Amino acid sequence: MAEDRMLTVEEAQEIVLDSVSVSGSVRVPLPDAQGLVLAEDVAPKFDVPPHDNSSVDGYAVRAADTAGASTESPQRLEVLEEIPAGTVPGETVGPGSTSRIMTGAILPDGADAVVMVENTRQGDGGVEILKTVASGQNVRYRGEDVKKGQNVLFGGAVIGPGEIGLLAAFQRSQVSVRRRPDVAILSTGDEVVEIDEALVPGKIVNSNSYSLAALVRECAARPVNLGIARDSETAIAGAIKSAVNADVILSTGGVSVGDYDYVKKVLEDLGADMRFWRVKMKPGKPLAYGMLQGKPYFGLPGNPVSCMVSFLLFARPAIRKLMGYGPQDWHLPTVPAILENDLSAGGDRRHYLRARVTRAGGRFHASTVAGQGSGMLSSMTGTNGLVIVETGVTSVSRGTEVSVLLMSPAGQAGPGRIARRPR
Ligand code: AMP
Ligand code: MG
Repeated sequence: MAEDRMLTVEEAQEIVLDSVSVSGSVRVPLPDAQGLVLAEDVAPKFDVPPHDNSSVDGYAVRAADTAGASTESPQRLEVLEEIPAGTVPGETVGPGSTSRIMTGAILPDGADAVVMVENTRQGDGGVEILKTVASGQNVRYRGEDVKKGQNVLFGGAVIGPGEIGLLAAFQRSQVSVRRRPDVAILSTGDEVVEIDEALVPGKIVNSNSYSLAALVRECAARPVNLGIARDSETAIAGAIKSAVNADVILSTGGVSVGDYDYVKKVLEDLGADMRFWRVKMKPGKPLAYGMLQGKPYFGLPGNPVSCMVSFLLFARPAIRKLMGYGPQDWHLPTVPAILENDLSAGGDRRHYLRARVTRAGGRFHASTVAGQGSGMLSSMTGTNGLVIVETGVTSVSRGTEVSVLLMSPAGQAGPGRIARRPR
């Protein structure tokens, strides 16, 4: 039974997260694994690096042969061969001899150190070593990064550029990961037209499908655009039915109490197991959540800001849990910040106020922007945080420490993608 009571954000988040579980694993080509979660422990099948090699361009030597070498009193060594990177040395370095070696080339037998070319000089019939080296100097040993069979990546790791590079170094062209979820996005509303349609009187552009697709991509999930359904039970039912192949379903609009808000009715008719309809927050409030044929269904509000904030607070954590991210990565991070302006709020429910968050003097600072209406999408640009104002609080003065949800790292708001009016 859906809760008719208005839930707190935390209650609603708990219901959502309890209803989703981590998806199955698949093998994917390595480049497709970015942003996904590793579903296996990984060790290389060979030592990395695979052989002792030089970390500099220079001369491979027996360190003992360089004892006492200096510019004034160089040690002359006979040059046996040149070892470019990618080749195999042919000669063994014995007393009094050396081989020219390039960065990354295999260290020849007999040598135990490399003298940088900068510390050498060409001499008659050989090379002059101008500086002493210790055994092991400028040598990268076989397996010193990762040993054969040593697990260094573990199931649950989020695959970023470093992991991709390391997996490539291990010759892992395919990896086992938690599946990338398909997230269906459906806009509803007779007033909503596509981005390139004529904007005749009464119509507004479908921005929600675009902002949601972008948010879904930021989760490393795959948006599936189902277009716009007209405000009729049949149109909405048809569109929602076509969405059940997705792993998560998002719709926007039609979930409040207007005469044309059919989403609720359609979900009930389709036998969805609805868990709640409203959450005590602003922007937001109307937010339907339930399971439709085992898939999480989010009926997000139509107002563009409410839609995005509701996604960030509820759908994003669910998608990340589904993808195998750990609990520490489900929610946006909350940080304490010094409020840079006075602000007021309704006090009737928790408010999330768009703000520009910066870091200075080791602290976060938050300036809320003017134009906090749920339809004012411009407030989602040039801002990177949401200042939380709790129920019952109607004003907060400048200088107060507040809690801020970071939508992106502080400082990333830049100088403002659009000029924001100060409050
Ligand atoms: P609703 O929840 O359907 O009553 O819609 C609330 C508000 O959001 C209305 O002003 C709609 O015009 C607007 N809206 C609904 N769907 C979209 C959409 N896809 N893109 C932009 N605005 C929308
Ligand atoms: Mg509507």
